[in-house]
Amino acid sequence: MAEPRYPLLSLSRLRMGIDGPGVTTLIAGAGCPLQCRWCINRKLLREVTAEPVTAEVLYERVRIDDLYFRASGGGVCFGGGEALLHADFIRRFRALCPSEWLVGAETSLSVAPELVRIAAGAVDFFLVDCKDMNADIYRRYTGGDAALMKENLRLLLDAVGPERVTVRVPLIPQYSTSADQSRNVETLKGMGVTKLDCFEYVIKEE
Ligand code: SF4
Repeated sequence: MAEPRYPLLSLSRLRMGIDGPGVTTLIAGAGCPLQCRWCINRKLLREVTAEPVTAEVLYERVRIDDLYFRASGGGVCFGGGEALLHADFIRRFRALCPSEWLVGAETSLSVAPELVRIAAGAVDFFLVDCKDMNADIYRRYTGGDAALMKENLRLLLDAVGPERVTVRVPLIPQYSTSADQSRNVETLKGMGVTKLDCFEYVIKEE
């Protein structure tokens, strides 16, 4: 089988408190199955040609911050785009990097369940952007299927436990209300989610 490559868009080093514990390098990759109306990366995902890198090449580039990762309890976080599209690659990368590093993934969970299973065995923490738990709002805002996201969230919680899963619950201007956001929180708690991050999208019109 061909070695998986990651469509690297950018590396963002020395981040604190945004993409997981400690000092983190955000590894942004191309590709996403959704089409969110307020996506801040849409232009980037559409226009920038990604650089396909092997796990070895990526590891060489991020290990410059090894000391910061170890000292702070941090590591790397795969984002983008949809990180779990590259679950095979992340598994390979995890096998290369020191066990002291944390490896995170930002995901909408709008991917094939098999990719969630692979990621569950390789990723230390998941930052899930659920968008909305209501199927109509979800479809209007993302073009995707909320049922798939919910199925994958159940799968992930069963596989790794709630401690390793943070669900971001946005209030989406023009698509959801604070009442929707509160309902989403209750639904997620009912599913066993314990780490919730509620916030409101800040929209910059193009
Ligand atoms: S899931 Fe994220 S990257 Fe994909 S379209 Fe939505 S906001 Fe953009």
